[in-house]
Amino acid sequence: MDFKNIMIIGAGQMGSGIAQVIAQAGYQVCLNDIDEQLVVKGINSIDQNLGKMLTKGKITEEYKTAIMRRITGSTDLADASGMDIVIEAIVENKEIKGLLFKSLEHICDPKTIFASNTSSFPITELAAFTKRPDKFIGMHFMNPAPVMKLVEVIRGLATTDEVTRAIKEFCVSIEKTAVEVNDFPGFVLNRILIPLINETIYIVNEGVAKPEAVDEIMKLGANHPMGPLALADLIGLDTCLAIMETLFQGFGDPKYRPCPLLRKYVKAGYLGRKTGRGFYQY
Ligand code: NAD
Repeated sequence: MDFKNIMIIGAGQMGSGIAQVIAQAGYQVCLNDIDEQLVVKGINSIDQNLGKMLTKGKITEEYKTAIMRRITGSTDLADASGMDIVIEAIVENKEIKGLLFKSLEHICDPKTIFASNTSSFPITELAAFTKRPDKFIGMHFMNPAPVMKLVEVIRGLATTDEVTRAIKEFCVSIEKTAVEVNDFPGFVLNRILIPLINETIYIVNEGVAKPEAVDEIMKLGANHPMGPLALADLIGLDTCLAIMETLFQGFGDPKYRPCPLLRKYVKAGYLGRKTGRGFYQY
C-alpha cells in the first residue's frame, strides 16, 4: 500500500508528537483538534521540538522548514476525506472515540485505514463503531513519540494480514520499531506499566513513602530512567486512571482496582504536567 496523506486527530501531547514523527519521515500530515487554539498549540510544540534539535545541530534550518511545511492544521473533520491513514489520538474515552470513528466512516474513502493510539481499549470494540473492522488497527505510540522507538501494533479480531503488514511497514518508514500484539485490555505495555504506577500510588496513599522517595527508590534500585510517579505526571493522571478502569472492567480482577488517591487527584483536576500539578508541581 502506498501512503501519502496522514491525518492525526487530537493535537495534545501524543497527537502532536506523532504528527512530528510522521512529517519528519516525509509524509503530508494534517493535525486536527476540536479547537483552533489547541491545533496552534500542537503545531507550536512541534516547532519548539524541532527548534531544540536545530540548536543542538541535529537538523538544519532547511530540514526544519520542510518538515513544518508538510504539516497543516484543521478543526474540520471533513478534511479527513482523501487521507490514506487516520490516526486517532484524542481523549481516552471509548464513547467519544467511537463517535469520532462513526463520523469518519461517512467522510473517508472506504480504503482509508483507521488507527487508534488508545492506551488500553480493545481495538475490536473501537472497530465495531465502524463498518470497516478489517481496516481498523491499533497503533500505540509511546510518550514522547518523537523520542521513543516502539509502536505496539494491535490487531483487532477482523484486522486483515494486508493491513497489519502495511502498518508495520509504515512504522519502519517513520523509523519506529513495530511489535505486533493481540487485542486484550491494556495490550502488553500498559498491562504491566500502569498497575506498577497504581501500586506506587497506593504506597503514597498508605503513607509508606513520599513521591520523591518512591521515585528515587525505583530509579536507583530498579534502574528506571524516570520514577513511576514522575512518569504518571508525564502520561497524565486522567489517562492513567482511564487505563486502570479499562483493566479493572476488562479482566474483572480486583488486582486492577484503581487507587482511591488516583481518583481523588483526577477529580481535583491534578492531571500532572498538563495542568501544572500532579504528584509534583510544575
Ligand atoms: P491530551 O489530553 O494531551 O490530548 C487529547 C487531545 O484530544 C486534546 O487536545 C483534545 O482537545 C483532543 N480531542 C478530544 N476530543 C476530540 C475530538 N472529538 N476531536 C478532535 N480532538 C479531540 O491526551 P494525550 O496524552 O495526547 O492522549 C491522547 C491519546 O493517546 C489517548 O487515547 C491516550 O490514552 C493515548 N496515549 C497517551 C499516552 C501518554 O503517555 N499520555 C501514551 C500513549 C497513548
